[in-house]
Amino acid sequence: MPGIYIHIPFCKHKCTYCDFVSFPNRLNFAEAYMACLYKEVEMRARELEKVVFDTVYIGGGTPSVIDPKYIYGLMKKIVTCFHLTKDPEVTIEMNPGTVDAEKIAIYKRAGINRFSVGLQTAVDSQLEELGRIHTKADFVATCRLLKGENFSADVMLGLKGQTKADVEETISLVDENGATHVSMYALTPEDGTPIYTDYLNGELPDGDEVASLYDYGRALLKERGYLRYEVSNFCKPGFGSRHNMNYWKRGEYIGLGVAASSFFFGKRMTNTFDLDEYMKCILSGHFPVITSEEVEEGDAKFEFVMLALRTVFGISSKAYEKAFKSDWKKDFARAYEATRQYFDEEGDTTRIKDEYLYVQNQILTEFLA
Ligand code: SF4
Repeated sequence: MPGIYIHIPFCKHKCTYCDFVSFPNRLNFAEAYMACLYKEVEMRARELEKVVFDTVYIGGGTPSVIDPKYIYGLMKKIVTCFHLTKDPEVTIEMNPGTVDAEKIAIYKRAGINRFSVGLQTAVDSQLEELGRIHTKADFVATCRLLKGENFSADVMLGLKGQTKADVEETISLVDENGATHVSMYALTPEDGTPIYTDYLNGELPDGDEVASLYDYGRALLKERGYLRYEVSNFCKPGFGSRHNMNYWKRGEYIGLGVAASSFFFGKRMTNTFDLDEYMKCILSGHFPVITSEEVEEGDAKFEFVMLALRTVFGISSKAYEKAFKSDWKKDFARAYEATRQYFDEEGDTTRIKDEYLYVQNQILTEFLA
């Protein structure tokens, strides 16, 4: 079912690997920005009044750095303007060290029932190297506040000097502190970020080393009862992210806020990345959209296959046929034949074999061609 994504672009400090749209020096604009966001909610809701949404995801940036009264106000606006299911999944991203008991209580009153905590690593020297604003102890304190809640922790691989023992320490920490979900993904050194220099200098682990850390982490997560359901996502039974599952099923979603993207009525749209332009557009009653394009059928078919094969559920021929009135194995006959040794087939479902899921990008390149 469709989801709502909201981007809160403020952070206390820019991490050394970050190329997300986040503004560490503009927290003083939070009030004006949130007022614009409330208005964008009203504007979009008018167009989507017949749609029922199942999930809300408040991401960033670091949504937990702003006053929680704005998050409360935002959720109130969303519930008033949009039509949500009876039991929506509502997630907020937060960084350790930016929340206290009162903030969590306000989030819960606002209807938030899932938390995503950006840990990355349990090793303090690595956190410092990444420019993170918190320590391992801050993460533990945040987990104490979230005791009994449904929360996810981010774990990053491919850090300078990272060893298997570091990965083990990190995974033990998240499990022992009650995380129901883990997102474990590889650091991508983006050009223009400070960490890119480390990459150019050969100071970061290479692809094979990262793959070996991933395999090690995956085995540890499995031992601890976290089931992999997508290449980078693992959960205790019943705690998969509904919001993300909708993306992987190529479901519709609406994105609100600066740099947010949407997929609705067969069209992909992106909001401006410029904070001032975003606010100017909204204040003058215009959508801050900078790109809007219909997805052509060939691209839609590729997206469907690519997204489904990222998950352990794989691609269902029936679901593809329902969406496109054709057979995906015929539409992608050459690529399918070239890669079929990597697949498990069961009934109408094709999945990438467990041991190849991490390298699914290389397999999917065939489908892109
Ligand atoms: S907390 Fe996240 S969004 Fe903010 S600077 Fe760090 S990586 Fe970027």
